[in-house]
Amino acid sequence: MASFRELLARTKAQIREVDTATAEAAIAGRPAPVVLDVREPDEYEQGALPGAVHIPRGHLESQVEHRIADRDAPIVVYCAGGTRSAFAAKTLSDLGYTDVVSMVGGFNKWKNEGRDWQTPQTLSPEQRNRYQRHLLLPEVGEEGQQKLLSSRALLLGAGGLGSPAALYLAAAGVGTLGIIDMDVVDDSNLQRQILHNVDRVGERKVDSAKKTLTALNPDVDVVTYDVRLGADNVLDIIDGYDVIVDGTDNFPTRYLVNDASLLKRIPVVHGSIFRFEGQATVFAPYQGPCYRCMIPEPPPAELAPSCAEAGVLGVLPGIIGSIQTMEAIKLLLGLGDPLIGRLLSYDALDESFRTFKVNRDPECPACGENAGEIVIAEYDELCTPHLREAHPTP
Ligand SMILES: [Zn+2]
Repeated sequence: MASFRELLARTKAQIREVDTATAEAAIAGRPAPVVLDVREPDEYEQGALPGAVHIPRGHLESQVEHRIADRDAPIVVYCAGGTRSAFAAKTLSDLGYTDVVSMVGGFNKWKNEGRDWQTPQTLSPEQRNRYQRHLLLPEVGEEGQQKLLSSRALLLGAGGLGSPAALYLAAAGVGTLGIIDMDVVDDSNLQRQILHNVDRVGERKVDSAKKTLTALNPDVDVVTYDVRLGADNVLDIIDGYDVIVDGTDNFPTRYLVNDASLLKRIPVVHGSIFRFEGQATVFAPYQGPCYRCMIPEPPPAELAPSCAEAGVLGVLPGIIGSIQTMEAIKLLLGLGDPLIGRLLSYDALDESFRTFKVNRDPECPACGENAGEIVIAEYDELCTPHLREAHPTP
């Protein structure tokens, strides 16, 4: 039987080690290696290398495949002094990772030499408890939850689609939720707009939404915009958001949001409802089709009655708004296959879903190859884009 010293010596003979200076140079280089911290949580929380992936040594085998999928990725693994990382490097090599080095001297040496480190953001015990079911998903985990907490989502409308979207985004811990709506809560909204309630009738919708969401999750900073979204403010409002969830119900606003989001390169999760049918898709700027690629021009007004005129079964926006929220969270976390270039169509009476392919239009006046630079302007019922060529501005 081997003693600890013999086992360590044998392990070190089977791995590659680098000193802190070599590790630092590798981390600064391109492609940058994955930096893996295998210390215990209480050690990690007091300071770690910037951007380090943290998997305690005891969870390495069970978690590493989810956290570091590419087995050929260069990995620099460290612990406090270089012993645990040596064993971790051996384990990684046994698991098929091909380019692993262990940092001699570990974090203590790194820190003593005055190299760059930081105190990682960690979840509080309350957050750990609240988001426990997210943390149990390896695809989300603590890293994903941190990402959600530092994410910013903008909701256009605190109505039928915006209600489930706002509730689930807030519940999920999306750190900043912007909500734009200029209406007041009306009795007739409550059949579907579950953000509001009878005590809020007559109140500004954004204020009612903020009360509901803050009561649900105080982690969330709810930013309200009690204004009409227009050409004069759209670029300022959407600036800095990671994703836009579009719950608007009129064509001029959708085209306005489309053109502004292309300029700012912010993905839009689109949803629409009509009577018993709903649709959802994702417009990822210059990656997939945009709203104009899908609907080059609005239908004539008589064929496109608004929600107020057409009627809608109240649960329908709950379903479509929830699908939009799922897509928004997937985009924020980089998870799965978003509805880019696909239109999901739901028929409540059949209880059936269908998916249609939506192609990017090379001739699209907004995102096509030869599209002119778009000037954000108010749209009339034809919603044609205002191109810089057509409307020269000084
Ligand atoms: Zn387009």
